[in-house]
Amino acid sequence: MHGTPRRRLTVVSGPSGVGKSSVVGRLRKRNPDIYFSVSVTTRPPRPGEVDGEHYHFVDHATFDRMVVGGELLEHAQFAGNWYGTPREPVERALAEGRPAVLEIELQGARQVRAAMPEARLVMLMPPSWDELVDRLTARGTEHKAAVEARLAEAERELAAAGEFDARVVNTDVREAANQLLDFMRHDCE
Ligand code: 5GP
Repeated sequence: MHGTPRRRLTVVSGPSGVGKSSVVGRLRKRNPDIYFSVSVTTRPPRPGEVDGEHYHFVDHATFDRMVVGGELLEHAQFAGNWYGTPREPVERALAEGRPAVLEIELQGARQVRAAMPEARLVMLMPPSWDELVDRLTARGTEHKAAVEARLAEAERELAAAGEFDARVVNTDVREAANQLLDFMRHDCE
């Protein structure tokens, strides 16, 4: 394989509640050429989440097997659950010359950066801390302790914003998705 297809790998991180799924979802709808990774997780599905579409929902034994078997490009524990990116579909997309997007948290983003220095990292930021607290609380899908765990992680994630190649403030989903796409176009072509 010639060229540097790995340059086409974009990692989108940002605190839980910042709207990563909405922004990435908008990008997905409008750009069928981009490959969007589907992670594996030990977290139970939220209402409305579909296995194989939002995540591959697996038990701990399966997750451990995938880690040991080297099947994950990166993996991390987040707020009590495990998450990881299946390696093969991402590598296949990149080999086919398709841009690929991973929506993952900070520890995973750092692992991708170490393994694939050509990857580009974007952090999605909330307009303000208070706005993030409001969004996470309003979502209503997590219990109080889980919201607090996510806010603690959020503080750590935002403190690492300087490590990223770009930062996009999510004031408006459409605008943030456009900025992300601009960044990918600029960076990937
Ligand atoms: P949630 O439980 O809200 O769906 O996801 C929690 C956090 O885990 C989010 O920040 C999400 O981006 C991140 N995440 C989702 N999939 C992966 C993955 O495969 N690897 C890593 N490191 N983080 C992930």
